[in-house]
Amino acid sequence: MHRPVPYGKQWITEEDIRAVNEVLLSDFLTQGPKIREFEEAFAHYVGAQYAVAVSNGTAALHLAALALRIDEKTNVITTPITFAASANCVWFCGGNVFFADIHPQTFLIDLNKVRELIESKPKGFFKGLIVVDFSGMPVNLEEFRKLADENNLWIIEDACHAPGGYFVDSDGKKQFCGNGNFADLAVFSFHPVKHITTGEGGMITTNRKDLYEKLLLLRTHGITKDPSVMAENHGGWYYEMHTLGYNYRLTDIQAALGISQLKRADEGLEKRRRIALKYNQELNPLSDYLTLPLWFEGHAYHLYVIRVKNNLRPKLYNYLKEKNIFSQVHYIPLHFMPYYKKTLKELYPLPESEKYYRECLSIPIFPSLSEEDQDYVIDTIKSFFSSKC
Ligand SMILES: *Cc1c(COP(=O)(O)O)cnc(C)c1O
Repeated sequence: MHRPVPYGKQWITEEDIRAVNEVLLSDFLTQGPKIREFEEAFAHYVGAQYAVAVSNGTAALHLAALALRIDEKTNVITTPITFAASANCVWFCGGNVFFADIHPQTFLIDLNKVRELIESKPKGFFKGLIVVDFSGMPVNLEEFRKLADENNLWIIEDACHAPGGYFVDSDGKKQFCGNGNFADLAVFSFHPVKHITTGEGGMITTNRKDLYEKLLLLRTHGITKDPSVMAENHGGWYYEMHTLGYNYRLTDIQAALGISQLKRADEGLEKRRRIALKYNQELNPLSDYLTLPLWFEGHAYHLYVIRVKNNLRPKLYNYLKEKNIFSQVHYIPLHFMPYYKKTLKELYPLPESEKYYRECLSIPIFPSLSEEDQDYVIDTIKSFFSSKC
C-alpha cells in the first residue's frame, strides 16, 4: 500500500524549529517583539499598509465584523461555497446572512448575482459584502468595489486561501489579495493546511487607519495604555477599557514560526503552481469525465478542485480513499447546514452552488507533495476512469 497522501499539509523546516526555540528562551512568550515583526513582514508581503496578528482566522473575521459595526440591523451578502467561519462572523454580531450564487467557472461569488440580490431589496438594505478568494482564485475586487461604492457597502475579503495570489486590474496592474486597495479589511488564517502556518493563527490587513486602531483595541479586551486617547491618567500602572474587546492575541512563539514560514511563502506558492500546472496537463485527456480548474498565473492554488461529471464524484472519492489518497469536498454549501436552515431569513435555491457541491473534489496539493506522490495521485485517477470505459 502506498503511504497516505492528504489533500493538504504543513511544511516545517529546521529553520522554523530554530526560530521557535529562540523565542522559548527569550523574555516574551506572548505579544512581544515578534508580533510587530510578523505584522510588518506580512503587511509588506501582501502590499497592505497595516496588519494585525490574531489567534486564528475565525477571530480575524470576528474582529473585522466588530470593527465594521455589524449588528442586528446589518444585512450582509456572501457566498455559500466557503468555510463556515466566513459567514459565521455575521451571526457572531447578530447580523443577517444572505447568499449570492457562485460563478460556475471560477467557483467564486458571482458579481451579477450579487447585483441582482441588491436590486431585489430596498435601497440601503445591505450594508456589506464578504467575498472569498476561494481555493486561491482571487476575486476581481476592482469590479466588486465599484458595485459596493454604488450601494454604499463595505467589503471584507476572506483571503485565507490566497496569500500571494493576485488579479490583474483594468490598468494591467497586479493587485495582490489582501492589499487593501479595494476591500476595507482582509483576513488570513495560519491553520496548518493553509499556505503558511503558525499552528493556529490569523491576520487582518487594511489600508484604513481608523479600522486598524479599532482592531488593535478589540484584540486585547478593548484596553488601551495610550496616554493620547485616555480620559484620565493616574500613573504608570493606569489603563482604560474603551470598548468590549476579547483576548484574540497571537503568541510570540507563533509569530516567530510565522516570520520563518513567510520567508518561504513564495517558494511554497511556486510549488503549488507547478503542481497545479502538472495536474492540468496530465488530467486534461480526461475532459470527458472531469472539469479542471482554470489555469491562471495569479491563482494561489490553496486547493486544486476538480469537478467530476456523471455523478461519479462519490465513487472517485471512495476509490481514492481505498488507495490511501485523502481527497476532500470543499465545501458543503452553507445553506445546507442545519444551523443555517434555522437562522437564514431567506432560504432559496442556489443552483450553481448546489451543482458544484455534487461534483467538486479537492485532490492533494501542498508544497511538500513529492513528484512521486503526485504521480501516484494522477495514475490512480487515470486508473479509476479507465475502468469506467
Ligand atoms: C481556514 C479558513 C477560515 C478560518 O480560519 P481558522 O484559522 O481555522 O479559524 C476562514 N475562512 C476560510 C475561507 C478558511 O479557509
